[in-house]
Amino acid sequence: MTQNAIEIRRLTKTYRAGRGAPEKQALRGIDLDIPAGSIFGLLGPNGAGKSTMINIMAGLVTKTSGSVCIWGFDQDENPRQSRAAIGVMPQELNLDPFFTPRGALEVQAGLYGVPKSQRRSDEILEMVGLTDKAEAYARTLSGGMRRRLLLGKALVHHPRILVLDEPTAGVDIELRRMLWTNIRKLNAERGMTIILTTHYLEEAEEMCDEIAIIHHGALVARDSTANLLGQMDAKCMVIDPVDPPARLPVGAGLDVSTRPDGALVISYRASHTTAEDVLRAVHAAGIAIRDVKTQQADLEDVFLELTRSRA
Ligand code: ADP
Ligand code: MG
Repeated sequence: MTQNAIEIRRLTKTYRAGRGAPEKQALRGIDLDIPAGSIFGLLGPNGAGKSTMINIMAGLVTKTSGSVCIWGFDQDENPRQSRAAIGVMPQELNLDPFFTPRGALEVQAGLYGVPKSQRRSDEILEMVGLTDKAEAYARTLSGGMRRRLLLGKALVHHPRILVLDEPTAGVDIELRRMLWTNIRKLNAERGMTIILTTHYLEEAEEMCDEIAIIHHGALVARDSTANLLGQMDAKCMVIDPVDPPARLPVGAGLDVSTRPDGALVISYRASHTTAEDVLRAVHAAGIAIRDVKTQQADLEDVFLELTRSRA
């Protein structure tokens, strides 16, 4: 059985004008399903609408129109159940400076109505590596510790879905690794669905099974990471021949076309064909090369292409 952790339909959000700022349409009709059990990446440049979308899922921002279903519960019809199914680690470090890590977890559990007998503050502190800071004031915690505490807070009510908004923006390598390890563990051992936003493409590549890319409040791509990587596998060589070729190069996996200026455009997949194979096919066709250029798509290029064409 495949089940969706999140189902979003025709979702829009327009922030009202205020304090000199004009009205802003942050989401322009998003349709998106996020499969249960996945590690799902929501990518997009700054201002794309990632946080808006996540905050709507979490019930922290009210949508303008559309519907959001969380673990089968419509947000409008079952606000409590839908809220209980999701935990959010926000982008901002919004911690009350007067709570200790343990106190912050207890208060959060109270807000979500978790009975004392079902609280697991010690376990969570252990998991995020804050056991020895359990009684320290939040204001004495380093940035990294605060971020770990925010992860802990997102987990107090045993949510099925964990949402992380730019979890590793501006954090050091050690903390990034720790967060990645924790996220993978929660996904593998508890089957928790993980949704993370990031503008680090390598993070999405490394962590996510599936990826959605949004830009200017619209969805511009939605595919498995493997398929997006497959797309990135596409390479292209542009050959400027000395003379107009009498015949075109042929070879398995080569897709050859001629440009109006006479250049040959040869597309191939790096996983199946090397640049040398391509050049060999060109020579075999008796073509002398004046100049050669390669164009290689990586996730960065795919991302830029997808987002630029909608600018
Ligand atoms: P991202 O997380 O992808 O960087 P956001 O969802 O934070 O994007 O923002 C999307 C757009 O909505 C941006 O243009 C941002 O300036 C605007 N925006 C975000 N929050 C507010 C708000 N509270 N009031 C007005 N505009 C906002
Ligand atoms: Mg954001």
